[in-house]
Amino acid sequence: MSPRTTLCFIFTCLILGSTQGPAQLRQDERNRSEKKEESQPKRPESKTKPANIQKESQPLLLIEKSGLNLRDDLQPAPSFGWFARWKFITRSVRQSIDNAPVRKARWRYLVVHNSGTKQGNAKAFDFYHTNVRRMSNGLAYHFVIGNGTTSGDGEIEIGARWNKQINGGHVHSDYLNNIALGICLVGDFNQQKPTEKQLAALDELIRYLRLRVGKIDGNSAVVKAHKEINPPRWPTDCPGDGFPYGWLHNKFD
Ligand SMILES: [Zn+2]
Repeated sequence: MSPRTTLCFIFTCLILGSTQGPAQLRQDERNRSEKKEESQPKRPESKTKPANIQKESQPLLLIEKSGLNLRDDLQPAPSFGWFARWKFITRSVRQSIDNAPVRKARWRYLVVHNSGTKQGNAKAFDFYHTNVRRMSNGLAYHFVIGNGTTSGDGEIEIGARWNKQINGGHVHSDYLNNIALGICLVGDFNQQKPTEKQLAALDELIRYLRLRVGKIDGNSAVVKAHKEINPPRWPTDCPGDGFPYGWLHNKFD
């Protein structure tokens, strides 16, 4: 190889190395979370892990990178202006959603629950999860949508787990709780149906969160009802027989 060809070769390698940066960062995170996962007991739900993570990982493992800060890998909030089409994502709700330090490609699922109670709000469920269920991070969901009893009809409340970007406590799986946002509609949908405003608020919240969390391998976050994603070993009927599953999947699948 002539000196000129050698220089050219090194330069090409440098360029290739630098363009792999963000992808490698994501890979580092995946490796890290997969390692963490391996250290835990085997769980049946690991089947739900998207298969393309494995596929993408092969060539990237060859590239060495170190000293990059994962905090640089944050997902920016949507940059469009204020549109009247958001009725339930109020200015303060949007601010709270935007201000959280969301990591790129972290949240892969949006999971819908019912509270199983006729009334309640974020504060009431936080009290219950903290003091009765003894959950150290309190309110197990990231978001609560009121039904007009203890909070407004269609009112979106934001939990501390969203603000702090910590795992939920809403699905029976540590692995899924780390990659799935929990949205709870107040109500017992085995006895009643969600209100029209709750569904309209859920629709807006899902659409906004999909923009906020960004795409994962080119796809939007997957929307599931709780019973559709809980590991089969722990069956649940949440969010109840009265929840419109067809409506949810027609909109977001
Ligand atoms: Zn649930």
